[in-house]
Amino acid sequence: MTGKLAGKIALITGASRGIGAEIAKAYAQEGAHVILLARTVGALEELDDEIRSFGGQATLMPLDLRDISSLDALGPTILNHFGKLDIFVGNAGLLGDLSPVAQSDARLWDEVMTVNLLANHRLIRTLDPLLRASDAGRAIFVSSSVARREAPYWGAYAVSKAALEKMIETYALEVATSPLKVNLINPGATRTAMREKAMPGENPETVKPASELVPLFIQLALDTETRHGDLISA
Ligand code: NDP
Repeated sequence: MTGKLAGKIALITGASRGIGAEIAKAYAQEGAHVILLARTVGALEELDDEIRSFGGQATLMPLDLRDISSLDALGPTILNHFGKLDIFVGNAGLLGDLSPVAQSDARLWDEVMTVNLLANHRLIRTLDPLLRASDAGRAIFVSSSVARREAPYWGAYAVSKAALEKMIETYALEVATSPLKVNLINPGATRTAMREKAMPGENPETVKPASELVPLFIQLALDTETRHGDLISA
Protein backbone atom coordinates (compact mmCIF):
# COMPACT_ATOMS: atom_id res chain seq x y z
CA MET A 1 0.00 0.00 0.00
CA THR A 2 1.06 3.55 -0.57
CA GLY A 3 0.62 6.24 2.07
CA LYS A 4 2.48 8.41 4.53
CA LEU A 5 3.55 5.35 6.57
CA ALA A 6 4.22 2.94 3.70
CA GLY A 7 6.86 0.34 4.61
CA LYS A 8 6.63 1.03 8.34
CA ILE A 9 6.07 -1.62 11.01
CA ALA A 10 3.95 -0.26 13.87
CA LEU A 11 3.01 -1.89 17.18
CA ILE A 12 -0.12 -0.51 18.85
CA THR A 13 -1.15 -1.68 22.33
CA GLY A 14 -4.81 -1.56 23.28
CA ALA A 15 -5.73 -1.99 19.64
CA SER A 16 -8.94 -3.96 20.19
CA ARG A 17 -11.21 -0.93 20.67
CA GLY A 18 -11.39 2.79 21.37
CA ILE A 19 -8.46 5.05 20.55
CA GLY A 20 -6.05 2.19 19.82
CA ALA A 21 -8.32 0.56 17.22
CA GLU A 22 -8.85 3.91 15.47
CA ILE A 23 -5.11 4.63 15.35
CA ALA A 24 -4.30 1.12 14.13
CA LYS A 25 -6.81 1.47 11.29
CA ALA A 26 -5.48 4.89 10.34
CA TYR A 27 -1.85 3.71 10.34
CA ALA A 28 -2.81 0.72 8.16
CA GLN A 29 -4.66 3.06 5.80
CA GLU A 30 -1.43 5.04 5.51
CA GLY A 31 0.42 1.87 4.48
CA ALA A 32 1.97 0.67 7.75
CA HIS A 33 1.90 -3.01 8.68
CA VAL A 34 0.23 -2.85 12.09
CA ILE A 35 0.82 -5.27 14.96
CA LEU A 36 -2.34 -5.26 17.06
CA LEU A 37 -1.87 -6.04 20.76
CA ALA A 38 -4.77 -6.57 23.20
CA ARG A 39 -6.53 -9.44 25.00
CA THR A 40 -9.85 -9.65 23.15
CA VAL A 41 -9.17 -11.93 20.20
CA GLY A 42 -12.62 -11.50 18.61
CA ALA A 43 -12.26 -7.72 18.49
CA LEU A 44 -8.74 -8.00 17.08
CA GLU A 45 -10.03 -10.38 14.36
CA GLU A 46 -12.81 -7.95 13.44
CA LEU A 47 -10.30 -5.13 13.13
CA ASP A 48 -8.04 -7.37 11.05
CA ASP A 49 -10.98 -8.05 8.67
CA GLU A 50 -11.66 -4.34 8.37
CA ILE A 51 -8.00 -3.56 7.66
CA ARG A 52 -7.78 -6.32 5.04
CA SER A 53 -10.97 -5.03 3.39
CA PHE A 54 -9.14 -1.87 2.31
CA GLY A 55 -5.93 -3.73 1.40
CA GLY A 56 -4.08 -3.05 4.66
CA GLN A 57 -1.83 -5.44 6.54
CA ALA A 58 -2.12 -6.45 10.18
CA THR A 59 -0.71 -9.06 12.55
CA LEU A 60 -2.62 -10.00 15.68
CA MET A 61 -0.78 -10.18 18.99
CA PRO A 62 -3.23 -11.37 21.64
CA LEU A 63 -1.46 -10.69 24.92
CA ASP A 64 -2.37 -9.71 28.47
CA LEU A 65 -0.17 -6.80 29.55
CA ARG A 66 -0.60 -7.88 33.19
CA ASP A 67 1.61 -10.84 32.33
CA ILE A 68 4.57 -8.48 32.20
CA SER A 69 7.37 -11.05 32.19
CA SER A 70 6.01 -12.40 28.88
CA LEU A 71 6.63 -8.97 27.34
CA ASP A 72 10.40 -9.38 27.48
CA ALA A 73 10.23 -11.69 24.45
CA LEU A 74 8.38 -9.17 22.28
CA GLY A 75 11.38 -7.33 20.83
CA PRO A 76 13.14 -10.51 19.66
CA THR A 77 9.81 -11.90 18.34
CA ILE A 78 9.13 -8.77 16.28
CA LEU A 79 12.72 -8.76 15.01
CA ASN A 80 12.40 -12.41 13.90
CA HIS A 81 9.08 -11.87 12.11
CA PHE A 82 9.48 -8.39 10.65
CA GLY A 83 13.19 -7.58 10.83
CA LYS A 84 12.45 -4.19 12.40
CA LEU A 85 10.04 -1.94 14.32
CA ASP A 86 9.54 1.72 13.37
CA ILE A 87 6.59 2.89 15.45
CA PHE A 88 5.41 1.95 18.93
CA VAL A 89 2.17 3.37 20.33
CA GLY A 90 1.83 2.61 24.06
CA ASN A 91 -1.89 3.23 24.23
CA ALA A 92 -3.43 0.42 26.30
CA GLY A 93 -4.88 1.65 29.56
CA LEU A 94 -6.98 0.57 32.49
CA LEU A 95 -9.18 2.94 34.50
CA GLY A 96 -9.60 0.80 37.61
CA ASP A 97 -12.10 1.98 40.19
CA LEU A 98 -12.76 5.61 40.96
CA SER A 99 -12.51 5.66 44.74
CA PRO A 100 -10.56 7.28 47.58
CA VAL A 101 -6.95 6.13 47.90
CA ALA A 102 -7.60 4.90 51.45
CA GLN A 103 -10.46 2.68 50.36
CA SER A 104 -9.22 1.49 46.99
CA ASP A 105 -9.00 -2.17 46.08
CA ALA A 106 -5.34 -3.22 46.40
CA ARG A 107 -5.54 -5.86 43.65
CA LEU A 108 -7.07 -3.39 41.19
CA TRP A 109 -4.47 -0.77 42.16
CA ASP A 110 -1.73 -3.26 41.23
CA GLU A 111 -3.43 -4.05 37.91
CA VAL A 112 -3.76 -0.39 36.93
CA MET A 113 -0.12 0.30 37.77
CA THR A 114 0.91 -2.79 35.84
CA VAL A 115 -1.04 -2.06 32.65
CA ASN A 116 -0.57 1.72 32.56
CA LEU A 117 3.03 1.95 33.79
CA LEU A 118 5.00 -1.24 34.37
CA ALA A 119 4.01 -2.90 31.10
CA ASN A 120 5.20 0.20 29.21
CA HIS A 121 8.51 -0.05 31.06
CA ARG A 122 8.90 -3.69 30.01
CA LEU A 123 7.92 -2.82 26.44
CA ILE A 124 10.45 0.02 26.29
CA ARG A 125 13.17 -2.36 27.54
CA THR A 126 12.50 -4.95 24.87
CA LEU A 127 11.63 -2.60 21.98
CA ASP A 128 14.29 0.09 22.49
CA PRO A 129 17.00 -1.63 20.38
CA LEU A 130 14.60 -1.98 17.45
CA LEU A 131 13.27 1.56 17.73
CA ARG A 132 16.79 2.98 17.86
CA ALA A 133 17.82 0.85 14.86
CA SER A 134 14.98 2.24 12.74
CA ASP A 135 15.86 5.14 10.40
CA ALA A 136 13.09 7.15 12.06
CA GLY A 137 11.91 5.33 15.19
CA ARG A 138 8.82 6.82 16.81
CA ALA A 139 7.43 6.03 20.27
CA ILE A 140 4.14 7.60 21.33
CA PHE A 141 2.59 7.09 24.77
CA VAL A 142 -0.94 7.98 25.79
CA SER A 143 -1.38 9.88 29.04
CA SER A 144 -4.26 11.80 30.59
CA SER A 145 -4.94 15.24 32.03
CA VAL A 146 -5.40 13.68 35.48
CA ALA A 147 -1.62 13.14 35.58
CA ARG A 148 -1.11 16.86 36.14
CA ARG A 149 -4.23 18.21 37.79
CA GLU A 150 -5.77 17.60 41.19
CA ALA A 151 -7.65 14.35 40.81
CA PRO A 152 -9.34 13.13 44.00
CA TYR A 153 -10.91 9.67 43.53
CA TRP A 154 -8.98 8.99 40.30
CA GLY A 155 -6.63 6.90 42.45
CA ALA A 156 -4.24 4.49 40.76
CA TYR A 157 -5.16 5.77 37.29
CA ALA A 158 -3.94 9.33 38.03
CA VAL A 159 -0.84 8.06 39.82
CA SER A 160 0.01 5.64 36.99
CA LYS A 161 -0.30 8.35 34.33
CA ALA A 162 1.83 10.82 36.34
CA ALA A 163 4.50 8.14 36.69
CA LEU A 164 4.19 7.26 33.00
CA GLU A 165 4.83 10.88 32.07
CA LYS A 166 7.95 11.01 34.26
CA MET A 167 9.21 7.72 32.81
CA ILE A 168 8.69 8.89 29.23
CA GLU A 169 10.28 12.31 29.85
CA THR A 170 13.27 10.47 31.30
CA TYR A 171 13.44 7.97 28.43
CA ALA A 172 13.23 10.79 25.89
CA LEU A 173 16.24 12.52 27.47
CA GLU A 174 18.20 9.28 27.39
CA VAL A 175 17.67 8.70 23.65
CA ALA A 176 17.99 12.35 22.61
CA THR A 177 21.13 11.74 20.53
CA SER A 178 19.51 8.92 18.50
CA PRO A 179 17.03 9.37 15.60
CA LEU A 180 14.26 8.02 17.87
CA LYS A 181 11.54 10.54 18.73
CA VAL A 182 9.57 9.90 21.92
CA ASN A 183 6.43 11.84 22.80
CA LEU A 184 3.32 11.77 24.96
CA ILE A 185 -0.23 12.54 23.85
CA ASN A 186 -2.99 13.67 26.18
CA PRO A 187 -6.03 12.79 24.05
CA GLY A 188 -8.58 14.68 26.16
CA ALA A 189 -12.14 13.46 26.56
CA THR A 190 -12.77 10.89 23.84
CA ARG A 191 -15.86 8.74 23.16
CA THR A 192 -14.74 5.25 24.22
CA ALA A 193 -15.67 2.50 26.67
CA MET A 194 -13.22 3.93 29.20
CA ARG A 195 -14.75 7.39 29.03
CA GLU A 196 -18.21 5.91 29.47
CA LYS A 197 -17.05 4.04 32.57
CA ALA A 198 -15.44 7.19 34.01
CA MET A 199 -18.40 9.45 33.21
CA PRO A 200 -21.52 7.24 33.28
CA GLY A 201 -23.99 10.16 33.27
CA GLU A 202 -22.52 11.86 30.24
CA ASN A 203 -24.18 11.90 26.84
CA PRO A 204 -21.55 10.22 24.60
CA GLU A 205 -22.65 12.36 21.67
CA THR A 206 -21.18 15.40 23.45
CA VAL A 207 -17.70 13.83 23.45
CA LYS A 208 -15.41 13.81 20.41
CA PRO A 209 -14.93 10.49 18.57
CA ALA A 210 -11.50 8.84 18.53
CA SER A 211 -11.24 9.53 14.78
CA GLU A 212 -10.52 13.20 15.62
CA LEU A 213 -7.20 12.11 17.17
CA VAL A 214 -5.97 10.45 13.97
CA PRO A 215 -4.16 13.44 12.39
CA LEU A 216 -2.06 14.02 15.54
CA PHE A 217 -1.10 10.34 15.88
CA ILE A 218 -0.14 10.19 12.20
CA GLN A 219 1.86 13.41 12.44
CA LEU A 220 3.90 12.11 15.38
CA ALA A 221 4.71 8.90 13.48
CA LEU A 222 6.07 10.60 10.36
CA ASP A 223 9.77 10.65 9.39
CA THR A 224 9.54 14.43 9.20
CA GLU A 225 8.35 14.87 12.80
CA THR A 226 10.87 16.77 14.92
CA ARG A 227 9.11 17.00 18.29
CA HIS A 228 10.82 15.00 21.03
CA GLY A 229 10.10 14.66 24.74
CA ASP A 230 6.90 16.67 24.40
CA LEU A 231 3.49 16.22 26.00
CA ILE A 232 1.00 17.16 23.32
CA SER A 233 -2.63 17.79 24.14
CA ALA A 234 -5.16 16.95 21.44
P1 NDP B 1 -10.69 1.61 26.10
O1 NDP B 1 -11.10 1.09 27.43
O2 NDP B 1 -11.72 1.85 25.08
O3 NDP B 1 -9.57 0.68 25.46
C1 NDP B 1 -8.51 0.23 26.27
C2 NDP B 1 -7.65 -0.70 25.46
O4 NDP B 1 -6.60 -1.19 26.31
C3 NDP B 1 -8.41 -1.88 24.91
O5 NDP B 1 -7.97 -2.20 23.61
C4 NDP B 1 -8.00 -3.00 25.87
O6 NDP B 1 -8.01 -4.25 25.19
C5 NDP B 1 -6.57 -2.60 26.23
N1 NDP B 1 -6.17 -3.23 27.48
C6 NDP B 1 -6.66 -2.99 28.72
N2 NDP B 1 -6.12 -3.85 29.59
C7 NDP B 1 -5.26 -4.64 28.90
C8 NDP B 1 -4.41 -5.73 29.24
N3 NDP B 1 -4.35 -6.22 30.49
N4 NDP B 1 -3.68 -6.32 28.27
C9 NDP B 1 -3.74 -5.86 27.00
N5 NDP B 1 -4.53 -4.84 26.61
C10 NDP B 1 -5.28 -4.24 27.56
O7 NDP B 1 -9.89 2.95 26.42
P2 NDP B 1 -9.53 4.24 25.51
O8 NDP B 1 -9.43 3.88 24.09
O9 NDP B 1 -10.40 5.32 25.97
O10 NDP B 1 -8.08 4.54 26.11
C11 NDP B 1 -6.88 4.47 25.36
C12 NDP B 1 -5.82 5.27 26.10
O11 NDP B 1 -6.24 6.64 26.16
C13 NDP B 1 -5.63 4.82 27.55
O12 NDP B 1 -4.26 4.86 27.88
C14 NDP B 1 -6.39 5.88 28.34
O13 NDP B 1 -5.88 6.02 29.65
C15 NDP B 1 -6.15 7.11 27.49
N6 NDP B 1 -7.11 8.21 27.70
C16 NDP B 1 -8.40 8.08 27.28
C17 NDP B 1 -9.29 9.14 27.43
C18 NDP B 1 -10.71 9.06 26.99
O14 NDP B 1 -11.48 10.03 27.22
N7 NDP B 1 -11.15 7.97 26.35
C19 NDP B 1 -8.85 10.42 28.05
C20 NDP B 1 -7.47 10.44 28.45
C21 NDP B 1 -6.64 9.37 28.26
P3 NDP B 1 -8.56 -5.63 25.78
O15 NDP B 1 -9.61 -5.33 26.80
O16 NDP B 1 -9.05 -6.34 24.57
O17 NDP B 1 -7.33 -6.28 26.36
